[in-house]
Amino acid sequence: MPSARAKSLLADYRDKRDFSRTGEPKGSRKRATGNLFVVQKHDASHLHYDFRLELDGVLKSWAVTKGPSADPSEKRLAVRTEDHPLDYADFEGTIPEGEYGAGTVMLWDVGTWTPDGDPAKGLKSGKLAFTLDGQRMKGGWALVRMRGRKDENWLLVKERDDHARDSNSLTKPKTSVTSGRSMAAIARGDASRKPASGKGSRPGDD
Ligand code: MN
Repeated sequence: MPSARAKSLLADYRDKRDFSRTGEPKGSRKRATGNLFVVQKHDASHLHYDFRLELDGVLKSWAVTKGPSADPSEKRLAVRTEDHPLDYADFEGTIPEGEYGAGTVMLWDVGTWTPDGDPAKGLKSGKLAFTLDGQRMKGGWALVRMRGRKDENWLLVKERDDHARDSNSLTKPKTSVTSGRSMAAIARGDASRKPASGKGSRPGDD
């Protein structure tokens, strides 16, 4: 079971959802990965990319409206959203019509993250720098909180390194990193296009 702290952090997540209707995880399982990151492409009322970092026993989450850019000059708005349970990192499928976040969810990237300095302090002070080792997002990145807003608006920015690009091609891949499916195939409930063993290559999977 998740720790008492993680449980209290997930109160908002649970309040927003009716688990008799949505197939999203309740957050009862614990994955002791420690440094998981996941990006879920989410075709809700507005298409966005949910960027999540494992911290404090939960997935700290931001909705990135336009998706990440490998171009350091393209700062992408990332609106902080409620903490999600660790088992959300395995969720790909559809959230039913009429439910919170209704629409298709794709596992667009999965990997590990390494914070630069103390991540709890960074989250509080509004500057979180880290290195990503995903299948699509790699190298140095930063999340920087904007001042003077009621909502938690952050910017997701690529650092200048070998993984930076002048023009953004990062969001060109249109299939799931775990199932190989397109958004349409996920919405239809088609079978995975990748062998189940492909999932086992992910860090922290048992
Ligand atoms: Mn979302």
